[in-house]
Amino acid sequence: MAWSIKNWRRDQILRHEAIPDTLWFQLIHLPCLQGLDPDELQRLRLLATLFLHEKTITGAHDLDITDEMRVTIALQACLLILNLDLDYYRNWVQIILYPGEFMLEYEYMDEFGIAHHVHDAAAGEAWSAGPVIMSWDDVIHSKLGHNVVIHEFAHKIDMLHEGANGCPALHANMSPHAWHEIFSTAYDHFCQQVDRLQEIIIDSYAAESPAEFFAVMSEMFFELPLALGQHYPSVYEQLMLFYRQDPAKRWRW
Ligand SMILES: [Zn+2]
Repeated sequence: MAWSIKNWRRDQILRHEAIPDTLWFQLIHLPCLQGLDPDELQRLRLLATLFLHEKTITGAHDLDITDEMRVTIALQACLLILNLDLDYYRNWVQIILYPGEFMLEYEYMDEFGIAHHVHDAAAGEAWSAGPVIMSWDDVIHSKLGHNVVIHEFAHKIDMLHEGANGCPALHANMSPHAWHEIFSTAYDHFCQQVDRLQEIIIDSYAAESPAEFFAVMSEMFFELPLALGQHYPSVYEQLMLFYRQDPAKRWRW
């Protein structure tokens, strides 16, 4: 009985809160959605509808939230879980959009035991079991390969398993040992390249921590899959196993 009530509710949401056609056909042109086949697009539309039913999106600093903004966020957030489950975004409801970059204020202790109080401008932030906060300007004006929605929602998926450490809960057919080895080796290699100021297509912010590395690699995976596959083929393969998608295939004609 519980199962059928759940399905009845789901059908009601899909029927009464469906994404309007005009908005849908306008937004499926987002770069990261290119190459999805009709079945995938249909699934994405349904997932995004359910996502929008579950989440609230509010504007900070008097930003008015439009349907276009809501659907833009939902489609990109749901791309990550297209072959996973909406349950990966459980235990939190709020998304806060600022018009542009916002200030983060935090304290940390350095290696010499000195406490620092920092003010930093940010394009996005994800709290464990709390809100996702993003700059709308960064959502719509990022260059290809940078995607704040994919970045913050990759953090959300990572945080579900032992906090944000760059290793989400892996599927039964995946090896935690292989993931650890491949990501550690790639992360060390990437940090060396950043230290040597070598020109790289991947955002140097990935060198901040293994958690940021996973989030930035997820941005690359969905937006510049061929480049990621060229630079870090083993990382691409692990992400393909985890997200159960092969975005590079969408770009190989
Ligand atoms: Zn991050």
